[in-house]
Amino acid sequence: MSNRIDRRAFLGKVARTTAVGATLGRLRLEAAPPASQPATKPAAEWRNKQSGMGYARLGRTDFMTSRIVFGAGGVRGPDDMRLLELAVERGVNYLDTGRAYRASEANISDFVRKNRDKVWIVSKAGHIGWPDMTIQPGEDEKAARLYTSQLDESLRTLKVDTIDCYMIQGAEHDWIVTMDSLYDAFVQARKAGKVRFFGLSTHTNVPRVCELAAASGRYDVIMVAVNPNSLQELSPAIAAMRKAGIGLVCMKTSGPIKRDARAFDKHYDQDLVGRKLSVYQRAYVHMINRGGMDAFISHTPNRTVLEENLAAAAIEPGRAELDAVERRVLAETRGSCRHCGRCNRACPNNVRPGDLLRCHAYLHTYGDRDAARAAYRLAGATACTGCEICTGVCPESIDLPRVASTVRAAMA
Ligand code: SF4
Ligand code: SF4
Repeated sequence: MSNRIDRRAFLGKVARTTAVGATLGRLRLEAAPPASQPATKPAAEWRNKQSGMGYARLGRTDFMTSRIVFGAGGVRGPDDMRLLELAVERGVNYLDTGRAYRASEANISDFVRKNRDKVWIVSKAGHIGWPDMTIQPGEDEKAARLYTSQLDESLRTLKVDTIDCYMIQGAEHDWIVTMDSLYDAFVQARKAGKVRFFGLSTHTNVPRVCELAAASGRYDVIMVAVNPNSLQELSPAIAAMRKAGIGLVCMKTSGPIKRDARAFDKHYDQDLVGRKLSVYQRAYVHMINRGGMDAFISHTPNRTVLEENLAAAAIEPGRAELDAVERRVLAETRGSCRHCGRCNRACPNNVRPGDLLRCHAYLHTYGDRDAARAAYRLAGATACTGCEICTGVCPESIDLPRVASTVRAAMA
């Protein structure tokens, strides 16, 4: 299948997308189905449907995804496996893993093999983007080989014949998103029956990556870093992706920089659809009901977080309740990182302040020191001189040198 992009036509399409998007303003969840969608929708693909779980059509894949995606990147031992089993017992049907998550694929492989008919498997090729970029512009063949070899390794490790969607992890550069060879590698793999859908995840330079991905017509599913604070800026790109039929999963949804994530809880004593919601639940409810997202993914370090996530996925709030949630999440995430990548591009010492924030979140929000260490290594925090150039370009004026020194002290 050829979907090769003519450069002039492509850039024109992006420009039109951006201009149209800019007029849309703030996106509401009632995003219309893709304009190109045929009058008769293809049959939905259901797996593991359970009462008490919310489901949504994952864009043009037609897969009915559980509103919660189980992030299997942190599955290491028996306790994590039990959380995964519980999640699937309760109706979760979308598992996310990746080559960069150390032994995650191997750890979940037996479970996946036994439950293949219940779960949709998404894995990701690393090293093309996150965590350590090993290709340069123009190294198209190398990138394609990396995609294909990692897909083959994922198939072997997961012990499955087909992966439902194989993504590029952490795409942040224009030239990666539009690289013909990567898409061709996917098409070849699809012809061979190794994979069904193409996708990417992005947590840096997010608006631009999403616009390009939507305009390319190549991507079926995108995992996007977005929180209520960054939603408005991203709304044109979200509208374009929805129009293109892309299934959307949000991550980093409650905002990545909070020392005490529950500090707001005591201020909110009203019930919402019969229950009090945590700061995380509010962010998830907002994103899947008003943010244009089909599902949310969360790190799941313990049973408390799992139960919170399951509850958030099942809530069906009314308009007034959503208005209340919206007011709260906008207050709670004000000042959060928008994943724009300006700080990374501006740093004269090649520090990646955006990854420092991820390190901070893993330390203080999730208590996951291994994940924090990986983000810390990638961020290159030891090279930070405290010059404050990054803070100067940050649209939220986040005190990034302070974040650098905080995580440096914590990781020492
Ligand atoms: S303060 Fe540190 S991270 Fe920020 S621009 Fe300067 S050297 Fe880079
Ligand atoms: S410049 Fe600010 S908002 Fe943008 S990625 Fe960096 S920290 Fe986040």
